[in-house]
Amino acid sequence: MSSTAKKIIVIGAGVAGLLAAVTAAHEGAKVSLFEKMPKVGLKMGITGKGRCNITNAAPIMDFIAKTPGNGRFLYSAYEKFDNEDLLDLFHSWGLSTKVERGGRVFPESDDAQEVRHLFMKKLRDEKVDLHLEEPVKKILIREGKISGVMTGKRSYEADAVILTTGGASYPRTGSTGDGYRMAKEMGHKVTTIRPALIPLVCKEDYCKELQGISLKNVTLSVDGGGRRKAEEFGEMLFTHFGISGPIVLSLSDKVSLWLSQGHSVKGSIDLKPALTQEVLDKRVLRDLEKYQKRQMAGALQDLMLHRMIDVVLNLAGISRNLPVSELKKADRVKLVQTLKALPLTITGTQPIEEAIVTAGGISVKEVNPSTMESKIVQNLYLAGEVLDIHAFTGGYNLQAAFSTGHLAAISALRSEHA
Ligand SMILES: Cc1cc2nc3c(=O)[nH]c(=O)nc-3n(C[C@H](O)[C@H](O)[C@H](O)COP(=O)(O)OP(=O)(O)OC[C@H]3O[C@@H](n4cnc5c(N)ncnc54)[C@H](O)[C@@H]3O)c2cc1C
Repeated sequence: MSSTAKKIIVIGAGVAGLLAAVTAAHEGAKVSLFEKMPKVGLKMGITGKGRCNITNAAPIMDFIAKTPGNGRFLYSAYEKFDNEDLLDLFHSWGLSTKVERGGRVFPESDDAQEVRHLFMKKLRDEKVDLHLEEPVKKILIREGKISGVMTGKRSYEADAVILTTGGASYPRTGSTGDGYRMAKEMGHKVTTIRPALIPLVCKEDYCKELQGISLKNVTLSVDGGGRRKAEEFGEMLFTHFGISGPIVLSLSDKVSLWLSQGHSVKGSIDLKPALTQEVLDKRVLRDLEKYQKRQMAGALQDLMLHRMIDVVLNLAGISRNLPVSELKKADRVKLVQTLKALPLTITGTQPIEEAIVTAGGISVKEVNPSTMESKIVQNLYLAGEVLDIHAFTGGYNLQAAFSTGHLAAISALRSEHA
């Protein structure tokens, strides 16, 4: 490193910040990395249920499609450093990886700590000056340009600052929204923060009754204010407060947005999406024929999980003790309709602290997508979830953080600004 090396400060040793710091140092910058927590990469360590869902093997166009929060802003970052570049880098560091269902990429060891330790080694190898438990309080600006940062201890000079403080979810990992405040202080617009990828709270008591039941191959439809509609097919779960699971998380971004706009949101679960109402009716008739000597509660066991029978009958207004032979056609129609549309009233989301990602953040309109530099403050770069970007699970959020962190580092280093 030459004595004229650029001084770069990275704020936040999470997914984006770790790669930004290592990349800038590797390319010859003098890098200081400030982290408020006692350890680096705490959130990285809990992704993919502790296995670290590094990225996805999908083509880059799929990454944009899986990023409802400003996916197109990420084109340049992906063009310069995509999932293959990331995996090449990790492999060159000695990490073995594997691809699982849905293209999710994990370390071969299934251990997120291996990735964290690799980054810790790289920080040492590249002589990054790591300051743990030293949160940055303020970013210092002189004449519209970055001049350094102020922590609780003292101020530090820098030629460029890369802000990678993450979102506002899972604050116990250190992401408490500090970056939003610092960005606002510098004149940046921060769009409304709300939870994305979050379980949903429902009014119906039956969710609690069915707590722990996981439904596979169902369709969940949601409707905001009667006009905004979306649906997903796959797996979901009942909880004591409502619903969760993969298709719920996927739809939660839209639901959270509609709720924040004041719309009432209804949901509906199609327990038999592969069957039309007519085909399902024939199937129900066959079962009723088979169990004609029983009561209704005993006649539906082939059609659904045992614990669901009473809930479905109750919603259809049919007594569980009704002899099958006494069921009227109108009741059967109601039963079929209920199986095709279990009603839900979605009243809210779990709190943002429980969200996998934060929707909203520093407005991408004020950030140059080709460099990640702020359009407001020269030599300030922004990367990761602190930006108004959010994606579905599957490694897309991590790749977004890695790609923007990498681009910010390269740009900060190569910037011609004095
Ligand atoms: C439970 C869970 C599971 C997830 N699973 C997946 C998944 O499977 N796939 C996927 O793609 N994404 C997943 N994510 C999302 C993903 O982890 C985040 O999008 C990603 O970590 C964002 O990276 P980041 O670098 O922007 O922020 P973070 O990784 O949150 O890092 C921000 C860092 O900044 C530090 N910091 C904050 N303020 C300051 C300050 N003032 N001074 C110094 N340091 C500061 C924080 O302590 C933290 O270390 C998951 C998230 C959670 C919570």
